[in-house]
Amino acid sequence: MKFLAVTDAQRIVLETAQRLGSERVRLEQSIGRVLAADIVANRDLPPYAVSAMDGFALRSADVVQIPATLEIIEDIKAGDLPQHTLQAGQCARIMTGAPLPAGADAVLRMEDTKELSAVSVEIRESVKAGHDVRPRGENMTVGQVVLTTGTEITPGVIGILATVKAAEVEVFCRPRVAILSTGNELEGMDEPVDVNRIPESNSYALMGQMQMLGLAPALLGIARDDEVETERCLTRGLAYDVLLVSGGSSVGVHDLVRPALEKLGVEMKFWRVAMKPGHPLAFGAKGRTLVFGLPGNPVSSMVCVEEFVVPALRQMMGNRQLFRRTVSARLGRAIKHKPGRTEFVRVQLQREGADCVVNDTGNQSSGVLLSMAQAEGLLVVPAESAGLAAGGAVSVQLLDGSMFQNEAGLGE
Ligand code: AMP
Ligand code: MG
Repeated sequence: MKFLAVTDAQRIVLETAQRLGSERVRLEQSIGRVLAADIVANRDLPPYAVSAMDGFALRSADVVQIPATLEIIEDIKAGDLPQHTLQAGQCARIMTGAPLPAGADAVLRMEDTKELSAVSVEIRESVKAGHDVRPRGENMTVGQVVLTTGTEITPGVIGILATVKAAEVEVFCRPRVAILSTGNELEGMDEPVDVNRIPESNSYALMGQMQMLGLAPALLGIARDDEVETERCLTRGLAYDVLLVSGGSSVGVHDLVRPALEKLGVEMKFWRVAMKPGHPLAFGAKGRTLVFGLPGNPVSSMVCVEEFVVPALRQMMGNRQLFRRTVSARLGRAIKHKPGRTEFVRVQLQREGADCVVNDTGNQSSGVLLSMAQAEGLLVVPAESAGLAAGGAVSVQLLDGSMFQNEAGLGE
C-alpha cells in the first residue's frame, strides 16, 4: 500500500469521526464545551435607551450654541425610572446605565459640564442626537439568535448565556477516550528502574494532550507483545468512543496491534501516512469507535495526535474549528528537507521587532522527546519542499492555547 498524504489521511479520519449526542450541563460546568442548540434572546437589552456615561441627559437642539445653561429637573440613577419629560432648556443628571428621560436625545459626560448650582448646569460641548446613548436593543433584541450551535463556550459566551438566564445549557457530549501502550520493552510507572527497559511515557504525554482538550482519558496500562494480552486489552479499549494505542502498529513481527484489531472487527482505513515524524500511523473504526494505532516513538505519537486525533475529537465534540491556529513567521535557521513526506518540525517563536521569528528546538530525531517538550509550535514543511531557506516566510501551527481554525494549515 502506498503512503497516504497527510491531507488525505486527515480527510478519511474526519469522514469517519461522528459528532456525538448532547447533554445538559449547568452553566458553572460549561466552560470549553460546545453549544448543541441555538440560543435566543429572551428580551431587549437594554430595554430602553440608556446613558453610556455619568453626565447630563439633554436635548441636543438646546446645546447648539455653547456654553449653554440648562435647568436640572431630575436626578436619574441606574435602576430608577425617569419621572419627567424634558422641556426646552431642561436636562437631567443621569448615571451610566440609567434610562433616558422622555424628550432627551443625547448625553453629555460630566467632565464637559460645570454645575452652577443644584438646579443649574453649564454645558461646554455641543453634542449630536444619540451621543453617549445606548439605544434600546443595542446588546440584543428579543427573538434574536445570539449564539449558534457549534459555538465553543468561552468566558464571553458564558456572559451571554447568563444574560439570557441559561442556568443550564445543551452541549455536545465529550468522547470517552482510552489510552493503551504496547511493548515488552516498557517499564511501567510503578515498576523499579531497570536500565535495560524503556520508561513508559506515551500514556502520560497522550493523557496530557487529551486533558488540554478538557477530556479525562482512561489509562489502560501496558499490553505486552503477546497475542492474548493484546487482544484482551484492545477489547477493553473498544468499549470507549476513541481508543489510542501506542506502539505495535508497524510491520515488525512483534507488531501485533493491527492484526489483533482486524480480528476484533475493526475496519482498518489506513496504516501508512507520508509524514515525518509519525509515519506508522494506523486508523480504523468499529461501529462508532475510532481506533488510532499511534507510533511508539514518543515524538511521533504526539505529533500524530496533534494532526489527526485532535481534529477528530473536536469534530466529535461539535466544534466548528478543528485545527490548531497557524501563524506566519520568518524562519531563523534554514531547514533541510528531502521531498516526499510532510514534516512537522518542533519550533519555538520569538518576537524580533515587528517580526515573529521561528527556530527549531534542536535535535529533531523522533527519539528526542525534549524537542516536543520545548516546542511551542509545529512548523509544517510541505511534502514536496526541497528545504526551507533562512529568512523565508513559514507557517507554524501553535501547540498551546485554545484557539483553533477551520483550515489544517498544512501549507498546501
Ligand atoms: P514501536 O512503534 O512499538 O515499534 O515502538 C517504537 C519505539 O518507541 C520503541 O522501541 C520504544 O523505544 C518507544 N516506545 C514505544 N512505546 C513507548 C511508550 N509507551 N513510552 C515510551 N516510549 C515508547
Ligand atoms: Mg512495540
